[in-house]
This record gives sequence, structure tokens and C-alpha cells, in this order.
Amino acid sequence: MNGMQIPIPDGHLAVFEPGTVWLVGAGPGDPGLLTLHAVNALQQADVLVYDALVGDAILAMAPPGCERIYAGKRGGRPSPVQADISQRLVQLAKAGRRVLRLKGGDPFVFGRGGEEALALVTAGVPFRVVPGISAGIGGLAYAGIPVTHRDTNSAVTFLTGHGVGGDVPDGIDWAAVAQGSPVIVLYMALKHIAAIAGTLMEHGRHPDEAVAVVSQATLPQQTILETNLARCAGEVAQCGIKPPCIVVIGEVARLRAGLDWQGAAEGRILDEDPLQLRRRRETG
Ligand code: SAH
Repeated sequence: MNGMQIPIPDGHLAVFEPGTVWLVGAGPGDPGLLTLHAVNALQQADVLVYDALVGDAILAMAPPGCERIYAGKRGGRPSPVQADISQRLVQLAKAGRRVLRLKGGDPFVFGRGGEEALALVTAGVPFRVVPGISAGIGGLAYAGIPVTHRDTNSAVTFLTGHGVGGDVPDGIDWAAVAQGSPVIVLYMALKHIAAIAGTLMEHGRHPDEAVAVVSQATLPQQTILETNLARCAGEVAQCGIKPPCIVVIGEVARLRAGLDWQGAAEGRILDEDPLQLRRRRETG
């Protein structure tokens, strides 16, 4: 018994019609972070087109007869061209299949879900979108880092560290980000972390500012590097932390000392005043 006997009132979970595509977010990795709509999709799909970041435990939730097609894009490995993936979805749907397009995190957050959905619109294929928990929010929560906290920030910026051509994205106004965004959450940033940290410091971010790098968030292999802006690039290179990683820059990273709930379950003593607000007040 694993708790999946959840009584959902009739009419809330859709029937997967043949000839349609469901664009579904699988969350950051832990299968427990799938939505009920995602599980419902997995149970009905007859073909699964999935990305590199969707793990085996989740793929195993589809029925044995469901065809599995890998459409991963990952540095180093040969990757299908985006237009080919979109066309594949169209072809499969036109052949009358129930096509589950499963993506890591949320399909519309740095996931090209919008591009694929537009290709379906062009081809006249009906589709449905199932949001997922994005790594930049849920992955950080597993590390004990809230993306917003009243004492530190009321805004957060999500950025990709990887431009269309593979370089640091040039469409970003780094000065504005550095000066205007108290918390910056970076996706796909490991390769360019030195350049990004350097640029942020040039534009006024303090070298001591807290940074956390969360690798393989929500999975059993999750590891976290707690560092600062000046040291992060060197330490990332030195410790060989593995992708995928989320990098968070900002005071919220310090909250982990108080909110590392996974660590606490293993005996870590949590700090009740991780931002040292009380301590600072008491010492004047
Ligand atoms: N649509 C996804 C993001 C796709 S881009 C989402 O909403 O989460 C791929 C990037 O997401 C990775 O390079 C990494 O930066 C981040 N990512 C995805 N899963 C992750 C995980 N389990 N741990 C850390 N980072 C992750």
C-alpha cells in the first residue's frame, strides 16, 4: 500500500483521447512530485516521448505496452533537432495514438513546451498542458531553500545560463538583474558559472553573497554546494558537482541552515535564526 488510493471525484481527471498530445511536466525527479494529472496521463498513454531529465522510476509508471521514445537533448550526446521532435509528435497523434510528451520540471519553463505546442496548433492536433513542479522552485525546496522569504526578497528572477547558441545568453540585461533582483535562480548555468558570477559582481553584487548549487535535486543523489559568489565557480570546478544543477544566488540560500528538512531527518541541528536577524538585533 503506497497511498495511491486517492479518491478523486468523477470528472476531474480527463480521458486521454486517441489522436491527442498531452504536454506534461514530470517535476524535478522524485516521482512523488508528479501531479495527479501526470499520473493519469501515464496510465493511459500509448506512446511516451520523454526527455533526458525524466528518470526511470517515472517511465516505469507507464503500462508495459506503452512505447517509449527518447527525445533527450543533453550536452555531449547527439540530440534530436527540435523541429524533428515536434514533427514526431504530430505524426504520432495523426496516427491515432495517445501521445504523452513528458518533460522534466514544468513543460513551459525553459523546456521548449511552448514551441512544441505551437507546432501542434499549426498541424491542427488537439493538445492539453499539464504543468509540473519546476526544478528552480521544487528543487530548491528540497534543499531547504525557499525562493521567496519576507525578510530577504519579494522578487525572484529565473534565468537560463545557456543561450540559444550555447554561450551565456546575450539578451539579458545583467546590470538590471544584478541591481534589481535580490534572488536569482539559474537553470543550465554550470558551464558558464564563472562568467555569470563575474558579471554579477562587476555590476555590484557582493562577493560574499550566498550561493547554493543544488545537483540532482529531489533525487536520492541530491547534493548541495553552499558557497558564495566569489568562490562558487572555483568550488564547482573543484568538487565536480554533477548536472543537472540549479544555482541560487541571494540571501535565501542562507535559510538552508534553518530549513534543511532532509538534513534534520538525518540528525542535522537546524538553526532557528539562519539570517542572524535576532543575533544582529541583540548585539545592536
Ligand atoms: N522544464 C524544466 C527545466 C528544463 S531546463 C523545469 O521546469 O525544471 C534543464 C535544467 O533544469 C537543468 O540544466 C537544470 O538547471 C535544471 N534541472 C532540472 N531538473 C533538475 C534537478 N533535478 N536538479 C537540479 N537541476 C535541475
